[in-house]
Amino acid sequence: MYDIAVIGAGINGCSVAHEFTSAKKNVVIFDMDGVASGGSGAAGAFISPKFSKSGALKELIHDAFVYSMEFYEEKFSHLLQKVPLLHIAQDMKDSETLSYYKQNTVLELNIPPEELLEQLTPHARSQENVYIDAGVINAEAMCNGLCKDAKFIKEKINSLVYDEGVWILNEIYSAKEVVLATGAYKALIKEPYINIRGVWGHRIDIKTATQNKYSIHQYLSISPSKNGILALGATHNVHYHPQKNKEPYDVNEGRAELLEKASRTMELKDIEVIKDYTGLRSGSFDYLPLVGGLVLSHETMECCEKKVRVKKPDFSEFAYYPNLYMINGNGGYGFVLAPYLAKKLCEYILSGKKIDDRLSPARFFARWAKKK
Ligand SMILES: Cc1cc2nc3c(=O)[nH]c(=O)nc-3n(C[C@H](O)[C@H](O)[C@H](O)COP(=O)(O)OP(=O)(O)OC[C@H]3O[C@@H](n4cnc5c(N)ncnc54)[C@H](O)[C@@H]3O)c2cc1C
Repeated sequence: MYDIAVIGAGINGCSVAHEFTSAKKNVVIFDMDGVASGGSGAAGAFISPKFSKSGALKELIHDAFVYSMEFYEEKFSHLLQKVPLLHIAQDMKDSETLSYYKQNTVLELNIPPEELLEQLTPHARSQENVYIDAGVINAEAMCNGLCKDAKFIKEKINSLVYDEGVWILNEIYSAKEVVLATGAYKALIKEPYINIRGVWGHRIDIKTATQNKYSIHQYLSISPSKNGILALGATHNVHYHPQKNKEPYDVNEGRAELLEKASRTMELKDIEVIKDYTGLRSGSFDYLPLVGGLVLSHETMECCEKKVRVKKPDFSEFAYYPNLYMINGNGGYGFVLAPYLAKKLCEYILSGKKIDDRLSPARFFARWAKKK
């Protein structure tokens, strides 16, 4: 029997596996298609803060950015490329936001070097920008590195049954605790209040004669070049979903969009697309991730409907699935958020340290129950 079974070997599941193996737990991690085969394998894996004025998501990503840069540097420095990031405003409204950000952030900002600004189109050069120390991760290698001390099993989990204090997976494997890290894929536990949406993204690696030493973000992200290759990504395609659309995804259309967006920021010479990456980002409806235990909706409504319907319900009074947790909904910041959230989840499971209510899946249960 395993101490912990993690389902899904993307950046979330692998970060959780890392936390538990570091705590000397016996961990198994399952993925139906392999490590980093979902959204995580498609990611450009840029590590950056969120350049907005305020809000819970901005604060969370700020804390996660500071934590994760240190985490990756300390534990996986060979898979982290520390590289300055130039974030450029897209329009006047965005310029205002960046000006505000610059005046109010506690992060250290720098002045972009002239050689970087000279690379940009006149339009991009004329916009407000933020220049900051940031990073880019080798996504697949990072996921593999994080889960290397766990037992990896390539298998789809179809059934999850709790029997006499133990979770039984696919009628074969047993574990004391289970963490669902299944991204934008079909939910294993059907609860009406859990609603994860998938936003399709496409990024490309290109060969180009243009050399670039920096991460540059404007309409999309442009990575530094390595051996004449750089990454461009990603699209946010809300109209395509691999499980819902009948027609196949149009790769050429996606490539054209990426190249057009990049050309608005800088000229890239002699381009040859050498690899496409596509996948789903998983997001929640309030844009914040979901980390923590899963509420048993039926049982909670039966036992304590009145307590649920108050203005500010106490989530600790709800009924929960025993030893079952989730980590999901990281949107476009999976590689920034995962190490930070996995640490919080691990502390919660091992020592009961409370997770912020704003991240708890119970917040969606409370909203669902009030509407019912
Ligand atoms: C094109 C693109 C570019 C991106 N760029 C960035 C970026 O620059 N920086 C950044 O921080 N984030 C980026 N993201 C977002 C980031 O990739 C996601 O937030 C992150 O991958 C989410 O990780 P996850 O582990 O939750 O999901 P996933 O990586 O999708 O992992 C879920 C895994 O669960 C497995 N699974 C599901 N159900 C089962 C089952 N029943 N049994 C077994 N296995 C199962 C799947 O096979 C999958 O591998 C990008 C995303 C995309 C698509």
